[in-house]
Amino acid sequence: MSLPVSSLATARRLGRGLLDLVLPHRCLGCGGLVADPGTLCAACWQGLAFIGAPLCACCGLPFAHDEGGDARCAACLAAPPAFDRARAVLRYDAASKGLILAFKHADRTDAAPAFARWMARAGQELLADCDLIAAVPLHWRRLFRRRYNQAALLALALGRLGDRPAAPDLLRRRRDTPPQGHLSRAARQRNVAGAFALAPAWRDRLAGRRVLLVDDVMTTGATLDAAAQVLTRAGAAGVDVLTLARVVMAPT
Ligand SMILES: [Zn+2]
Ligand SMILES: [Zn+2]
Repeated sequence: MSLPVSSLATARRLGRGLLDLVLPHRCLGCGGLVADPGTLCAACWQGLAFIGAPLCACCGLPFAHDEGGDARCAACLAAPPAFDRARAVLRYDAASKGLILAFKHADRTDAAPAFARWMARAGQELLADCDLIAAVPLHWRRLFRRRYNQAALLALALGRLGDRPAAPDLLRRRRDTPPQGHLSRAARQRNVAGAFALAPAWRDRLAGRRVLLVDDVMTTGATLDAAAQVLTRAGAAGVDVLTLARVVMAPT
């Protein structure tokens, strides 16, 4: 016997009500109680700085004034990166740092679908244009310690949302690069040079395909630039970058 749809919906609501009692939903930011899974409380939401137009057409740096659709920032004009476009959802600040650290180190992997939804919105065109979604890999030693790669989780969730194949294993990390925290741009470039390689299984499968490269944070872009270089050298038709947050050094 099949239940009428309304009874099923009621049963589902009841079931969810019971689940909510057993496993209350926690704000992705502060861990306070929220009504729905994968959401933020009002205070955390208001504390986030979402990035919007006008932006550098290349790296996505927010501009103070609209400089026209194709305008690029001074850094992109001086040294064009290997990726075509980079977009990010949030400014990397104290509020977004808390979210990202919880996602990265505190097992808040339940945040991945919500973050991917924000990223799909911020990178709508990039997602529509790509053939394949890749993630910035962790070195195996770090993966072993952390048990999951937060960038791979975002790439997989974005693939599901955008109906694109996700290949979180496309790149490998050859070296465990030291943390880049206080390094200058040039030092970061040296730090990541040769850090990535294409996974052998992908050697003949990348030609002519556009790759969307996903990470949690873009700092100077040196890591993403190094990864994009490997992909374009391996024959990718183009590489775009989508991150949850990016560092915005100074207002322009
Ligand atoms: Zn909160
Ligand atoms: Zn730029």
